[in-house]
Amino acid sequence: MSKTAICPLPWISASFNTDASFRVCCNTSHGGLIKKNDKKVYMNQVENYSDIHTTDTIQTLKKDMLSGVRSKFCSACYDAEDASGISIRQYYIKKYSTIVDRIIASSDVNHAEKVKFLDFSLTNNCNLKCRMCTPGASYLLSQDFDKLAMPYDKEYANNAHALWSYEGVIENLIANEGDALSDILFTGGEPLTNQIHLKILTGLVEKNRSQEISLTYHTNLMVLPDPVLDLWKNFKKVYVHLSLEGQGKHNDYIRHNSNWDKILQNLQKLLSKKNQIDLWIEIHTVFQAYNFLIIPSYLEFLKTYASEFPSFPHFIWIDNPSFLSVDSLPAQVKKEGLAAIQTYIDSNKEFYESADFHEFNLEKIQILQGCLNRVNLEQSDSSQKEFVDYTVKFDKLRNQNVLDYIPQLEKVFN
Ligand code: SF4
Repeated sequence: MSKTAICPLPWISASFNTDASFRVCCNTSHGGLIKKNDKKVYMNQVENYSDIHTTDTIQTLKKDMLSGVRSKFCSACYDAEDASGISIRQYYIKKYSTIVDRIIASSDVNHAEKVKFLDFSLTNNCNLKCRMCTPGASYLLSQDFDKLAMPYDKEYANNAHALWSYEGVIENLIANEGDALSDILFTGGEPLTNQIHLKILTGLVEKNRSQEISLTYHTNLMVLPDPVLDLWKNFKKVYVHLSLEGQGKHNDYIRHNSNWDKILQNLQKLLSKKNQIDLWIEIHTVFQAYNFLIIPSYLEFLKTYASEFPSFPHFIWIDNPSFLSVDSLPAQVKKEGLAAIQTYIDSNKEFYESADFHEFNLEKIQILQGCLNRVNLEQSDSSQKEFVDYTVKFDKLRNQNVLDYIPQLEKVFN
């Protein structure tokens, strides 16, 4: 059997949306909801993960994967592979290769594996209000969406704010299923401000499980609490995926409420712990209309850190809202922007090839190249209008002007 569609996650992971409902994984399209009798399954309704792995949603997905069918759940991975040859699916295939071999050898949707990977989007409680985010991932944004009379799923946003009070349930799940557990991914909201997250870490340390477990975070690094740093020392490895959209005021504009100096300060603090914590740091950046024209200067700035961690970011194509994608920019702007990024890549390839972490950097260049390939060079007046209207609306509410922060977008907003 080929590995064209398979991914180990439906066999070995349990993944939670911000409202504590189960999903296939955090990369699945449209929430990736797992349903039972056509209804969402919430964390408080489940005692054993095996219940999740035998739902119709997961069984159908496994069947598709085993027969080489590309399920719509996983289009984010398959589309990324088509554009760049690289996706997170391939990362998991490599990481859990022994398990993938077992799954393929059995070729049975009922083949059972223990849960190795927990993936928590722990609430929508976040300290930021990013331009490309929604109230489902940042509760603070509900106020802005309400003021602007913009539609969103209020029930979901409220549940995501309040439903994660099932601390006992999380502990039970870890206790019942946790002997094979090797990886936990925390996203949000902002996980480093989350008290449930702190309790999970504390519980794992107290139960002497932490040394076998690696932690991964998607964080804005606006905070870096000492108690978290102390707990991290007990874990096998800590992967910090720092979300940035640009340098300085570019980042602070797109990621509203950010403070660039504070982020750099916390990054320095984190780097100073490298001798006490087995740390891996990488940068994650959404490839979008706001930062498209500033990518070369942003990449140049990140080179400052080339000896500390892989300085080339992992770029992520934005599907939602689609009008924030680079496709919404005027055709000529896209053409010029693509040429500028390509020139930057070509003239700096040697640097990345010879820098530390060169393997990682070269893979990330390939991913950015995939994003460049996906840009539709046609003019789309309707999505450009949506992008402009959305930006102006938020600027007015926040007493900002996009051109004070990203003057490179002058041709779009003047
Ligand atoms: S293929 Fe991608 S989207 Fe699907 S479960 Fe695996 S990592 Fe998630």
